[in-house]
Amino acid sequence: MTDQRGAAIGDYRAPLFLAWQLSNSCHCRCLSCCEDSGPDRGWPGELSRDEALALAKDIAASGIPYVAFGGGEPTEVPHFWDICRILHEGGVAIKLETDGLSLDDAAVARLQAWGVSCVQISVDGASAEVHEKVRPGGSFAGAVASVRRLAACGLAPEVVFVPTRLNLADAPAVFDLAAASGVRTFVTGPLMRLGRAAADWARLAPTDEDWKKTVAMLEAKARACGRVKLSVYPWDIREEIRVRRQSPQAMLLVVPDGKAKLLNALPFAPGDLRRQSLAEAWQAVQKAWSDPGVLDFIDQVSADPALLRHANECWEI
Ligand code: SF4
Repeated sequence: MTDQRGAAIGDYRAPLFLAWQLSNSCHCRCLSCCEDSGPDRGWPGELSRDEALALAKDIAASGIPYVAFGGGEPTEVPHFWDICRILHEGGVAIKLETDGLSLDDAAVARLQAWGVSCVQISVDGASAEVHEKVRPGGSFAGAVASVRRLAACGLAPEVVFVPTRLNLADAPAVFDLAAASGVRTFVTGPLMRLGRAAADWARLAPTDEDWKKTVAMLEAKARACGRVKLSVYPWDIREEIRVRRQSPQAMLLVVPDGKAKLLNALPFAPGDLRRQSLAEAWQAVQKAWSDPGVLDFIDQVSADPALLRHANECWEI
């Protein structure tokens, strides 16, 4: 999930943050995955080690204040740690979204030494049965162990819970588990109609009423706990697209092959960091937000959400 309060795109010479999907490959095949990632879902043209390290150096040189890594599973990319070292030495803050399964003691020590500002781990059930039903290939025990390992080192992780009909009833118990495990924030939001969630929407999407009741229960939990922040993303994906149409974030989204997209929900990829500098890709993204084809697509999505099936494609403008 991206920062809902990002500054407007025209305010900055460089993006305020860069969201970097290093690979589309990961351990799991989560039913709700926005990116349709999985063990065999790496893209054939993903950036090489040399290309990715060069991009990391450019990011540090360009003054982008922070990079958020998402997936696929970033920690499974062999050069992930070298990228982090370059960013850290360049003064770039790092946020990491992960399934947690690669975060052994040595990895946590590195994150701690590099002052990683935010680590988010997905926990989608209060038991192995539920978590692993919605996250096939994942490990409840492994995710919770990593949350506790991070907390024990003072890294105060965040737990991310993605609601579906299959795990919604577990949300309050996952909050309790997160609180007992030392997290600082419990992050959730409406199921996003993207990727595999979009493909199986009728079976997975909670009703609005059930979602609102769950949010109310989580708010009560957070009030009673008083120590764990509850962060509920306010918009579903169509609302997010509508809001971004009016006020795009100062954010550059880089997908595994180095293309720069407008938003993970939109198929437009106006930038290409294999061919362009960061500054050129940033300019292309800024310009594309006023492209008539983009604006028309956004308007069509409002009327026909089935168009979101194209979200993970990369269209040139
Ligand atoms: S949600 Fe994360 S772990 Fe699950 S399939 Fe998608 S990228 Fe992989």
